[in-house]
Order: sequence, then structure tokens, then C-alpha cells
Amino acid sequence: MADTGRANVNTLEPFWMPFTNNRQFKSAPRMVVSAKDMHYTTDDGRKLLDGSAGMWCVNAGHGRAKIVEAVQRQVAEMDYAPPFQWGHPAAFGLSARLATLLPGDLDHVFYGNSGSEAVDTALKIALAYQRQRGQATRTRLIGRERGYHGVGLGGTAVGGISNNRKQFGNLLAGVDHLPHTHNLSEMAFSRGQPKWGAHLAEDLERLVALHDASTIAAVIIEPVAGSTGVLVPPEGYLERIREICDRHGILLIFDEVITGFGRVGETFAAERFGIVPDMITMAKGLTNATVPMSAVAVRKEIYDAFMDSPAGVELFHGYTYSAHPLACAAGLATLDVYAEEGLFARATELAPKWEDAIHSLKGRSNVIDIRNFGLMGAVEMESRDGAPGARAMDVFMRCYETGLMVRQIADTIAMSPPLIISEAQIGEIIDILGAAIDATD
Ligand code: PLP
Repeated sequence: MADTGRANVNTLEPFWMPFTNNRQFKSAPRMVVSAKDMHYTTDDGRKLLDGSAGMWCVNAGHGRAKIVEAVQRQVAEMDYAPPFQWGHPAAFGLSARLATLLPGDLDHVFYGNSGSEAVDTALKIALAYQRQRGQATRTRLIGRERGYHGVGLGGTAVGGISNNRKQFGNLLAGVDHLPHTHNLSEMAFSRGQPKWGAHLAEDLERLVALHDASTIAAVIIEPVAGSTGVLVPPEGYLERIREICDRHGILLIFDEVITGFGRVGETFAAERFGIVPDMITMAKGLTNATVPMSAVAVRKEIYDAFMDSPAGVELFHGYTYSAHPLACAAGLATLDVYAEEGLFARATELAPKWEDAIHSLKGRSNVIDIRNFGLMGAVEMESRDGAPGARAMDVFMRCYETGLMVRQIADTIAMSPPLIISEAQIGEIIDILGAAIDATD
């Protein structure tokens, strides 16, 4: 076995790491071994300020005692309960809590274990709902370029990431995509929502004209696209998408796996934008990432349509770990922490300071755009000739070496700190990132 010289690690080879350059990582591993509040600790004892809430998910900060204790209590009391034909109190309790937090009449919740499962669940519910209401020809699913909806077959197909097309092909037939809204010549360095671009929503009318409304089941979009580099919707864009969906009987799914749970200052971005979608997918911040869990919330009308069916199982769908007791316990405790500490209001309060801080990097070498919304932010750099992603990877590595965790997405550095971040720590993020950008050719 290879001796890596690192404690408790015999070999790095057998773990095929997800979305990672395995060969590069295994030649120079970055190991984290503990986490508390705003910091990770590396295996060589260095503190890393968490500028990305892990991966957009640890919204209340790390190792929160209330959540840890709730999970410990639950695992000791009942480790597992089958979710098909059996119930346990925390599953109903969490659903009732979520129903009070969800916008409009989204008041029923179906559980999975990852954002990807939530997305594929939502797409399946959309297809089944259209059949349920006698519109079985509505099978087409519309996503958006530069959308990320996880890695299931459905989510990959509606996503708009060309590397997925290259590696896996189209995966599903009958899928089409709206154009993305990112246009540097029109919106570079916008603070918050860009003024330009609402008209891009009209492309949905073009797709309706092309395919006919009677073939379209649903549109799925992230209100703010996260994983492709924080793409903030132009003013008025989401409103127009909602109107067009309404006009043509198309379901609108907001994928809020990243934007949910305070990231943009409200429980869901839907509220922040004043739009009621027909379904919301959520994960990550739902349990503060302590235990994997995701959910799809649906409007009453959708749930009721299934309850009108002949007696029997209404939806042939579910996972062994749907509403897992540990995840439900983590979810309930997480919602308590958010409420008790007013973390969503805190995100709203910090957002203008975050905006000023991140935009202070304008003018640094190679920076071609800075974007922000809520406590999300991105700094995009010009790509090196023939080496897309290399410059931001160098910046990412320098941040790691100097004490900051961020995300690298092509030539963009994306950030989404835990909502407990202090103003001084926002300053620290900007100082470390600024120095890393300065030190990179
Ligand atoms: N949807 C969105 C908007 C996401 O950002 C992600 C992950 O980042 C997913 C779905 C997939 O979530 P998971 O990685 O938990 O499957």
C-alpha cells in the first residue's frame, strides 16, 4: 500500500473522488479533519476560514451543538424507520414546520437524500401530475443553459452543462433549454440583480411555439444559478417566466438546493423574488448538511390531484432513506437554530456589506466580473489562453495555502459563507482572496 505519510490514511487510491481531478488531488491531497463554526482544520493543523459553507450547505456554521445533540439523541432512540407504510413523528413534525415556512400553498413535502434525488423526484411528479390531470402528452421538460440540477439522469438532462453532454450524451429525449442570462458586455460588475436581460425569458414563448404547449410538462430553473458561478437573474426575468408558464399550463419548478434556507435572506429565494413556483426542491441547508436530506415541496393542487386517484398508493416513488429519522432530527434542530439566532435576517443585514466587500476587488488583475446576491458572490477572471480554469485553480490553491476555503468553477471563484459570518471575517475573506488574485499571473 502506498504510504502517504498522513495519519490514519493507508492509501488514497481506492476512493474514486467525485467531481475531482483524482490524479492531481492524490499527488497533493488537501485533507480536512475537523470543523467548528466558521473554520475547518486541516490534517496539518491549519485553520481554514470557510468561505463556501462547505459546498453551499453549512448555513448555520459547523458543529452546532443543538444539531449534533439532536442527531445523537435520535440515533440512540431509533436509528431507522421504514418510510413505506410506516411513519415516525419527526417526519411529520419536520413536514409541518416546512409547510409553515414555504411560500403560497406549497404545503406538502416529499423527501429524498440529495439535491439530485429531489430534482429527479420533482421531474417525475411533474410528469405524473400532467397524466393525473388528463394531459399525458405533456412530457417535455425545459431546463436552462448553465443550469445545474445534480447528477441523476433527469437532473443531468435538464441541466445545461456542456461537459455533461460530452461525457454522457443527452440522457433524456424531449428536453429543451432556455438560454442562460449571463452576458458580460451587458451586466459585468452588476450589484445584485442586473438591469439587462428580462427579455431572455421570452425565449420560453419561442419554445412553446416550437414544441406546442400541449407537449410541455415543466420548466426547471435555479432562481439564482449557483454551481455554474452565481448567475443572478435579471430584474423582471423570473416574473416573466412565471407568467409564461401560467399562460400555457406549464409547471414551474424552482431548484432551491442552494438558494434555500437563508442564503438570499429569506427561507426561499421564491419569497425574496415574490414568486410562487409550483414546486421547490431543497437540500443542503435543510439539515445544515449534518445528515444528507432533500425534499420537494409541492402546491396543494398537485398533491390533491394525486389524492383524487382511486384508493391505493398514489405516487410510485420513494427511497429507503426518505425522511430518515436522523435527517429529520437534524432538520428540526437546524430550523430551530436558524429561527433562534435570526440567521436569515442576519443574511439580509450582512448582504450590503458583503456586496461592498466583494466589489472592492474590482480592478484587481484579470478580474472581469464580480457578482453578488444575498450571501452569494463570485469573482470571475479572464481565462488564460488555451487553459480555461487554470487561473482560478491557482487562486483557489493560494487561498487554501493562506487559510481560506472557496469554490473554483471554471475561471470563477464562488463564495457563500455560513450566515453566522462576522463582518471582520468578511474582510478576512476579501483580504485573502485579493492577495491570492494579486499573486496569480
Ligand atoms: N440542484 C442544485 C441547484 C444544486 O446546486 C445541486 C448541488 O449543488 C444539486 C441540485 C444536486 O445536489 P446533490 O449534490 O445533493 O445531489
